[in-house]
Order: sequence, then C-alpha cells, then structure tokens
Amino acid sequence: MTLTYDLHSHSRASDGSLTPTELVTRAKLQGVDVLALTDHDVVDGLVDAGQTAISLGLKLIPGVEISVTWNNVTIHVLGLGIDRENECLLQGLSELRRCRDQRAEIIAKRLADSGIDGALEGAKNFASGAIISRTHFAHFLVRAGYAKNVRDVFKRFLVKNKPGYVAGKWASLEQAVEWITGAGGQAVIAHPARYKLSATKLRCLLEAFRLSGGIGLEVVSSSHNESECALMGRYATQFELLASCGSDYHGPEQTWAELGRMPAMPEECIPIWCQWN
Ligand code: AMP
Ligand code: MN
Ligand code: MN
Ligand code: MN
Repeated sequence: MTLTYDLHSHSRASDGSLTPTELVTRAKLQGVDVLALTDHDVVDGLVDAGQTAISLGLKLIPGVEISVTWNNVTIHVLGLGIDRENECLLQGLSELRRCRDQRAEIIAKRLADSGIDGALEGAKNFASGAIISRTHFAHFLVRAGYAKNVRDVFKRFLVKNKPGYVAGKWASLEQAVEWITGAGGQAVIAHPARYKLSATKLRCLLEAFRLSGGIGLEVVSSSHNESECALMGRYATQFELLASCGSDYHGPEQTWAELGRMPAMPEECIPIWCQWN
C-alpha cells in the first residue's frame, strides 16, 4: 500500500491557525498517513499532536523548522524525527525565540515610525503560541485595516525594503544541522525554490549543507510549482540528497494549500522515508 506523507506543517504553537489536535485530526480526514508537525523554532505542539495521532491511528513524525541565516539569506531547515526533549536542541531553539522577541520589538518600532501604532501588542494577541512571527504582525495589520489579506500585507509591509521588515539573526547552517542530528533527527532544506537563489548560490548552499551533515531536500512543496519540483528533484539526485515532501500547511485560511495535497514526487528521487520502518 502506498502511504500519503506530509512532512511539513504548522500549528498554533508557531504561526499556524489550528491547535496541534485540530491539525492532526484534519490530516487524518484528508487521508494523510504520516504527518510531521514542524513548527518554527519550537516543539511545544508535539506532545498534544502525538497523543491525538495515537488515538486516530496516524503516524506523527516529531519535527521542527529552524530559522537559519546563511550568507545573509534566511533559510529554513526542517528537522524530522527529532527527540523533542534533547537539551542542545531545546537550548538552541530557545535562543532563536529570544531573537524573535527582539526582532518583534524592532518591527513594531519601525511600523510605529511609519504611523502604525500598537503593532507589538496586536501581533502578540494573535500569537497565542510560543513564538512571535511576521505572520502574527500580518494578521494584526489585516485586522487593523492596513491591507486586504495576509499576502498583500507581506508585499506592502513585511518584506525587504518595506517599513516592517527587519532581517532576523538566526542560527548558522552548521548549528541548525548539529542540533537536529544531535537530537537523532534528519536535516532537510525546506522549500528550496522559495529563496530565489542563483544556480551557483543554490549549489553552494547544498554543498555546505551536505558537509554539515544535512541529508534531505524538500523537493515537493506547495510553495513549488511542477517545474520547480522537477528542478529540485534533479538537484536532490545530483547532490545525493533524500527527497522530502510537505504541504507547509498553516491553516484553512490558506485556501491554496491543504494537508496531504501536493505535486507528485519526481520518479528519480529517493524519498526520505525509504529507510523508515
Ligand atoms: P518569520 O519566520 O517570523 O520571519 O515569518 C515567516 C513566515 O511568514 C513564514 O513561515 C510564512 O508562514 C509567512 N510568510 C512569509 N512570506 C509570506 C508571504 N509572502 N505571504 C504569506 N505568508 C508569508
Ligand atoms: Mn510560517
Ligand atoms: Mn518555511
Ligand atoms: Mn513552514
């Protein structure tokens, strides 16, 4: 029997809108057999998600999505199959959340300088979980009437050269991979086509990632179109990286993404789950 894998998703513990229990329940209804919960820089949702998964008969892979700064570019590295109690991993993630808190204050100050008051408190109200992210600022700005939806608000306020953009200072690539592998997990570069790196830079990233002990590339993602999936499949093969697939689901308001729904894995790829039992 072929199983349906979705190895990238978010709950309210980071910037998703469903609780871990709601997320796992929805995954089951959508026909997902193996789900990884990969919240940004936090593992707090994994206990509830794991309990719900057991009760519904779905396999939950404990995961995380770590924010990394590599050559001044923010890269996301997924950890799959981590021990959520590993001390070094938890210590690293808690430092990243401190950076998030500091960045949030600067974002709010920049927004205030351009006439938008109350953004920190507003974003915190949306961040019911353990981290504060740009998504929470986006929800605040939409609710306050500054933009019509979250996509629009990112474009106008929260990306490079816009008033609410502040570059994060995240973990190094080597640190992130070390935390993940030290916690027994597999490190995977998330949505590689999203970074808009030149071919040369992408090769350089994949080389550095492999040297650090990374083993996977998220070839299939709902942020990739079919030609990007095919291209990333070729990179995975060339760099001998195992291929992963994930919807990067954040909640039902993102009508273009759904748990378990994504393009097919290119045939040449070796799936990351090939050695899982
Ligand atoms: P942060 O890690 O706090 O910088 O926030 C990054 C998160 O914002 C990503 O994980 C996405 O969930 C979300 N995001 C980034 N860019 C966009 C975009 N253009 N439209 C909607 N959401 C976005
Ligand atoms: Mn997110
Ligand atoms: Mn990401
Ligand atoms: Mn994600």
